Amino acid sequence: MKETVLNHPLIDHKISLIRDKRTGTKEFREIISEIAMILCYEALKDATQKEIDIETPITITKGKNIDENQYAFVPILRAGLGMTDGMLKVIPNAKIGHIGLYRDEKTLKPHKYYFKAPCNLADKEIILLDPMLATGGSATAAIQMLKDQGAQKIKFLCIIAVPEGLEVVQRDHPDVQIYCAAKDDCLNEIGYIVPGLGDAGDRIFGTK
Ligand code: URA
Repeated sequence: MKETVLNHPLIDHKISLIRDKRTGTKEFREIISEIAMILCYEALKDATQKEIDIETPITITKGKNIDENQYAFVPILRAGLGMTDGMLKVIPNAKIGHIGLYRDEKTLKPHKYYFKAPCNLADKEIILLDPMLATGGSATAAIQMLKDQGAQKIKFLCIIAVPEGLEVVQRDHPDVQIYCAAKDDCLNEIGYIVPGLGDAGDRIFGTK
């Protein structure tokens, strides 16, 4: 499945702002949240709708709604948390899971230190969140953990992706649709996205 890249002047504008190293924590956080909202709109384009009756002040008409409770947002700790409030502005009743992964320094493989997901994952539409799709190791491991718990419908939302990471996730999980706001060139020798925006977690939480 080919990834969806948001292609819009407003997104380019916002991405340029968060790439800039002079952009401070508050603005960085706000923009990550705004982009997450827009990614959420895009990812829900194919949402299942139900026809409902509505009484307006003028007349009776038909409307459409979606079942917000069917959605589970799962940020990968810690940077994925930065996208969660934007997502919740769009779907306030979504359930939230969390996945914590660390990288084994010897094997460089991701290991789970925390996993808590809403119940009945098989019935939910799961939206996994991580701002930076770099090597793809964390994303592919997180998707596998969700599938092991019964998840069947998973989408992955990120702010910036590189071809290496996209290839890994698409190879391991061809059923998972990926949405990103920008597609960058490559990874550098220490695994940072180039040109990227630096360490997303540090910039969201102001830890550097
Ligand atoms: N994670 C980040 O926060 N930034 C990168 O460039 C790559 C992975």
